[in-house]
Amino acid sequence: MTLPDSELPRTEDEWRVRLSPAEFRVLREHGTEPAWTGEYVDTKTPGMYRCRACGAELYPSDTKFDSHCGWPSFDDAIPGAIREIEDNSLGMRRTEIRCARCDSHLGHVFRGEGFTPKDTRHCVNSLSIRLDPSNP
Ligand SMILES: [Zn+2]
Repeated sequence: MTLPDSELPRTEDEWRVRLSPAEFRVLREHGTEPAWTGEYVDTKTPGMYRCRACGAELYPSDTKFDSHCGWPSFDDAIPGAIREIEDNSLGMRRTEIRCARCDSHLGHVFRGEGFTPKDTRHCVNSLSIRLDPSNP
């Protein structure tokens, strides 16, 4: 389910045909899905969350926690899977997170909120990820 490097889109037009309009808006145009609407907000199913655009492994399900913020939240990621970018849009200082493999937008990362011992919250759009359930 991971897209081979040779098939990774190189242009936004190539992405557009691979993704649904809603996925394209979030992953490639840095959109945000409305709070509480994503399919993974309350998901507890074990497995691996992968990038919905390229299939790269991003978040093991045991890093997911209940933040009650309306989006799936994770306190850690697969090492090297995430790229952080300073984002000063909307008059806020935030840190955007993208898939390190295909540069698709995932959400934002916040630190110092005290939700978990790791003190980190990756606030991720459900549209940016796909759960690969593990075999029980
Ligand atoms: Zn990706």
